This record gives sequence, C-alpha cells and structure tokens, in this order.
Amino acid sequence: MEKELKALLDECLQCKNPTCLEGCLANNNIKEFIRLCKENKIQDAFNVLSKTTTLPSICSLVCPSEKQCQGHCIKNKINKPVNIPFIEHYIATNSKEIIPDNLLNKKEKIAIIGSGPAGLACAEILAKNGYNVDIYDQYDIPGGILTYGIPEFVLNKKIVNEKINYLKKLKINFLMNLKLGKDFSIDDLLNKYDAIFLAIGACINKKLNVPNENLKNIVDANYFLEKMSKHDFKEFNDLENIAVIGGGNTAIDAALSAKKYLNSNVSIVYRRSEKEMPARIKEINKAKNEQINFLFLTSPISFIGKDKVNYMECVKNQLVLDGNNRPKPVEIENSNFKIKTDLVIKAISFEIDTSVLGNILCYPWSGIIVNENMQTSIPKIFAGGDCTLGPSLVVIAMKQGMNAAYNIIKYLS
Ligand SMILES: Cc1cc2nc3c(=O)[nH]c(=O)nc-3n(C[C@H](O)[C@H](O)[C@H](O)COP(=O)(O)OP(=O)(O)OC[C@H]3O[C@@H](n4cnc5c(N)ncnc54)[C@H](O)[C@@H]3O)c2cc1C
Ligand code: SF4
Repeated sequence: MEKELKALLDECLQCKNPTCLEGCLANNNIKEFIRLCKENKIQDAFNVLSKTTTLPSICSLVCPSEKQCQGHCIKNKINKPVNIPFIEHYIATNSKEIIPDNLLNKKEKIAIIGSGPAGLACAEILAKNGYNVDIYDQYDIPGGILTYGIPEFVLNKKIVNEKINYLKKLKINFLMNLKLGKDFSIDDLLNKYDAIFLAIGACINKKLNVPNENLKNIVDANYFLEKMSKHDFKEFNDLENIAVIGGGNTAIDAALSAKKYLNSNVSIVYRRSEKEMPARIKEINKAKNEQINFLFLTSPISFIGKDKVNYMECVKNQLVLDGNNRPKPVEIENSNFKIKTDLVIKAISFEIDTSVLGNILCYPWSGIIVNENMQTSIPKIFAGGDCTLGPSLVVIAMKQGMNAAYNIIKYLS
C-alpha cells in the first residue's frame, strides 16, 4: 500500500462516535471503510461504500468536503482533518464494480429522462434489481453536468466514462440525442413504460434582466462550459477581457476555463462578499492563484456596445441583514463604474425547463412538485435531482436518484 495513503489512514482515530458521518450527505460509513482500507481489504471497503453511494470515485473529487465529512472530522479540533475524499477515491478507483447475475429478470420497463448523477444513480439501482431501464438524454454523451459542466481539470472525464461503461454492462440502454418535449412526449412515455423517472436537471440559465443583455458576446455559462469541454474555441478568439457574473461553482469553473483555454484577463463579478460565495473554498483559492480578479459587492446594471458588448456598467453594493439567512445586497447610490469587457459569461443561477413537462405540476419557481415518495402529480412519474430541488450538489442529486429507484421498486411491487 502506498506510503502516503498509509500515513493518512493512520491519522483516523476510529472514534466511538464518528462526527465525520454527520457531515456526509451520502451517509457513507466513513469509519468502517477507513478501518477496512487500513487492513488492506480494499474490495470490502468498496462494498461498504457501495451500500450508500453509486458515485464514490466522482463524489470524492467534487463534493465540498471541507464543509461536509472533512469539515466535521473531530481532528479539526486537534490539527487538521483526515483526508477522507483522498481515501474514498483510492478505494473507489482500486476495486471492482460487481455485475450481479439477476440482470433483466423482471418484466417491467422503466424510462429515465436525463443522464446526470440523479438519472445514473437511479438506473444503477433499478438495473441491479433486475429491471429493464432505458435512459434518454438530449446530449450525445451521458453524464449531464458531470460531462458538459464540470471541467476536466476538476473531474477527470475518464472516471465518468468508466462509470457509464459499467452501467452499460448492467444492460442499461442509453438513448442519446433525444429530447423530451421535441422527439418524444410525456404521453409517449406513459404509454410505453411501467414507471418513469424525470432527472432533467435545472439546465436553463437565469436572465439578469438588465438592458442590452442580448448583445453579441454575452453568453450563458452552460453554453460556454459545453464549448470548452468540447475544445471548441472558434467563437472565442482574441478576447482580451472576460467578465464572469456569479459566485457559485459554475462561475468559478467558467472563469478557470476561460483562463486556461482562452488565456485572457478574467474577472469574477459577484454581488455579495467572498464570505457568502457558494463556490467551494478550494476552487476560490485556485482561481486566486490563477490571477483571476474578484470584484465583490458588485452588480452589473447594463451592457454597452454597438453590435457586441464592449463595456459593462456596474454598481457597488452594501450588505443588509433583513432577517433571512443571507444578507441582501443593496445598491450604493452614485457608485456606478464601467468595466471593459469583450465577453460576458452569465453564471447566476439555473431554472427547470417546465415547457417539456406536459401537465405535471411545478412550483412557481419552476421546480417539479413531488410527494414524500418522490412521485409527481402523475403517480407513475417520479422526479428527483436538480429538477425538483433547483441547483444543488452531485451527492444530493445522486442520493435522490437512489431513493427514487427504491420508491419505484416499491411502487411496481
Ligand atoms: C458548472 C457546474 C459546476 C458544478 N460543480 C459542482 C461541484 O464541484 N460539486 C458539486 O457537488 N456540484 C456541482 N455542481 C452541481 C451539480 O453538478 C448538479 O447539482 C448535479 O449535476 C445535478 O444532477 P442532475 O442529475 O439532477 O442534473 P444534471 O446533471 O443537470 O443532468 C440532467 C440531464 O438531463 C438532460 N436533459 C435535460 N432536459 C432534457 C430533455 N428535455 N430531454 C432529454 N434530456 C434532458 C440534460 O442533457 C442532462 O444530461 C455544478 C454545476 C455546474 C453547472
Ligand atoms: S471523525 Fe475523523 S478521526 Fe473520527 S472516525 Fe471520522 S475520520 Fe476518523
């Protein structure tokens, strides 16, 4: 076993009441997988992990662990926490995923729409329980945001591909380049399948609603990140200054991608202060190291340019506590200033595309309404992940996909 790993494993105190568990949104038995790994029983450790997660090799790279498992490790009080994600990743990438021998032994067929973490997790549990699963996606390659959102330098795509290949071995059918609402409808699905799981994510970038937002070279982060992940740079040549608007993981990923692939001056414009940024601390620090400029307490109020954007007019904000969890940014009078920019990337938030959902009931903010069994207003149709929660986390979407699968199994039996 590697020296580095052994040293990390030795740091775990095997606590009687492990606090790390409280921070894990997947509910992984961290203490036990570390114990087994220490005894060099890697496959056993993996089997422990597999009880609670279907994406350990991915979550170990993208979870905000500094706030979750590691953030709750008791050793924070002594010096530094146990490096739990490193250990989880080692186990997940050094063991074998098992192919059960009961595949396709049930007669019911299930359709899953969306192949992001929620759809993939649901498909895996259903297939392992003998169900016949078709998974549809509008894109050419499965994975959702894992494939076309989170950049390669955060999440190695080889790991995502390995997961997809494993799911194919479980006899899950991937039906790509097919869009719900265009190539097929909810009614088509209801006629053909015994149950349906909607995992379409929250893929529509919210608008800023400021003047001249339709100028050329003002793009959505989704669009930009998809182009970057395909290394399709042709429409982004010769850009001196790029401004990214937002403070979440998407904004940081867009800024780091712009820096890496387009070699421009990149600024992140965020309306609150650094403390309120929802992005992972590790990623914020990475952006700082890459010389990305941060403009905190700043909001754009209009874009200026003839055909394409040349300047962005902004105002400064102050934060005001109004009884909510997060302080509200309020514009400071006469604080207007201009930023020179050749490209603006909008990464403020995402909505659900309700136009494809037929009569399924949704909240006014666009999320699909589900009951405690994850059923929508049509009982045969279940939903989970970002399309019911709004923009969330990989681990939460995955867990919702797993829970949906168990609820579908209950419903079908
Ligand atoms: C740039 C970016 C970076 C992020 N970084 C992190 C991170 O570091 N850590 C973290 O935990 N979370 C991160 N997140 C959040 C995380 O990726 C999401 O919460 C998670 O992917 C949601 O999973 P999902 O399966 O619900 O939806 P998605 O991953 O969005 O997958 C939805 C799938 O449905 C498909 N689809 C949508 N509409 C249709 C339709 N009409 N017909 C057919 N298919 C359709 C889409 O093509 C997509 O493949 C990030 C998000 C973004 C955008
Ligand atoms: S809290 Fe930290 S030290 Fe205790 S069992 Fe969990 S990882 Fe090990």
